[in-house]
Amino acid sequence: MKGQKLPAVQEQWETEQQRSMEERGRLLLSLQFLPPPEEGDVKDKEHARGGLCVGVRRCAHLAAMDVNGFSDPYVKTYLKPDVQKKSKHKTVVIKKTLNPEFNEEFFYEISFTELSSKTLEVTVWDYDLGKSNDFIGGVSLGCHSQGEAAQHWIDCLKNKGQRVERWHTLTNELPGSSLQE
Ligand code: CA
Repeated sequence: MKGQKLPAVQEQWETEQQRSMEERGRLLLSLQFLPPPEEGDVKDKEHARGGLCVGVRRCAHLAAMDVNGFSDPYVKTYLKPDVQKKSKHKTVVIKKTLNPEFNEEFFYEISFTELSSKTLEVTVWDYDLGKSNDFIGGVSLGCHSQGEAAQHWIDCLKNKGQRVERWHTLTNELPGSSLQE
């Protein structure tokens, strides 16, 4: 063991991981970019730059993580890169279900230009009492995403002010992301 490097092995492992991605359920998500308020209407200082409204509606057919055949799901969102580590939002936990309804909204104050270079990471977790929570599945939305996720992101950016709601497939891996709780 003298400083042996394993880049090839690491790469191979990562490729294997991506190939083994499996579906972990579905997520209904709404995205809405709210443009900044008109000039002169400066009362609404908090939303002065406009921003992204993320609506976590519900999940369907989530993977069961508990021995009772259910999960206790909650959803987390991050807007990455997240240099200041302030972008985390979390829904409540809904106990013992694979089809939770959340209907929660989170607002990210951000300019349109900044937003277009970001990635919204949405992950679903199973709450466990007394031990660490289990990752169920996730989806990343940004201009580097693929398929339905990329399309949703683009449609949101193209249609400022409009709420765009879509279903997404959750997978057991999020390439390029460390899944910290
Ligand atoms: Ca649980």
